[in-house]
Amino acid sequence: MSTDGTALVTGAAGGIGAEVARALARRGTPVAAVDSDADRLRATVDEARSAGLPLTAYPADVRSGAAVRDLVDTVERTLGPIDALVNAAGVLRSGEARTLTEEDWQHTFAVNATGVFHTCRAVADRMVPRRRGTIVTVASNAAGTARAGMSAYGASKAAATAFTKALGLELARYGIRCNVVAPGSTDTPMLAALLPDDAARRSTIGGVPEAYRVGIPLGRIADPADIAAAVLFLISDDARHITMQHLTVDGGATLG
Ligand code: NAD
Repeated sequence: MSTDGTALVTGAAGGIGAEVARALARRGTPVAAVDSDADRLRATVDEARSAGLPLTAYPADVRSGAAVRDLVDTVERTLGPIDALVNAAGVLRSGEARTLTEEDWQHTFAVNATGVFHTCRAVADRMVPRRRGTIVTVASNAAGTARAGMSAYGASKAAATAFTKALGLELARYGIRCNVVAPGSTDTPMLAALLPDDAARRSTIGGVPEAYRVGIPLGRIADPADIAAAVLFLISDDARHITMQHLTVDGGATLG
């Protein structure tokens, strides 16, 4: 990506979103850092700015279409045209399908699927007249591979994946690319909430399918930087002929 455009990154207070935002900023891209957790976002952005990185905080909830439209308007007025959108905001409410509450299901879809719909539409409306831009949605390997206790999460990520690819087809004629990065287990607060103790984390690292019913052939949980590298590649001009694809970054956990 050329460095004259702005990038909008959702979930920028979280493990992966924050790393994507910092990685883009290190390349000189002004980043609109978006998250519903205003306090954590402020801390992330303040730390980055004190290191000289061009991040600006925009607290917003992606569940609201109106709020996202206002957000995109404000970002373009204050930072300039958005050339890249990274959808990293997400929630994981785990539990067996039979006992998951309806509110868990609705909330999961509101953030992970409808949130992506809102941001993509608002940003695409700006990109289309300019015939320029790229979108990356951070989904999950759980979208394509059954994971214990992750029925709502996997279904919502499958929805976000399918939506992002279909959008890519519709926007290809304008030269706008839309791709998906599908991480496996990544060392972030989301994973820490799921695997609270070291023993549980080690059992996954060792490939013993106790916690997830899935092992990691490369023998380690991903670092957020591993995911950010894939996102930055798909945003970059090196990927100029790649659209409607999904790139799995899970150490081989899904075996193909
Ligand atoms: P995280 O919990 O650290 O970060 C997620 C961020 O999204 C948080 O800062 C949270 O405040 C924000 N968010 C939640 N709801 C929001 C809303 N309504 N509006 C705006 N922001 C909201 O988790 P992470 O691991 O960094 O996850 C980043 C993305 O990667 C998520 O989409 C997640 O589903 C996906 N993912 C993570 C893993 C993993 O193992 N960590 C694996 C596969 C996919």
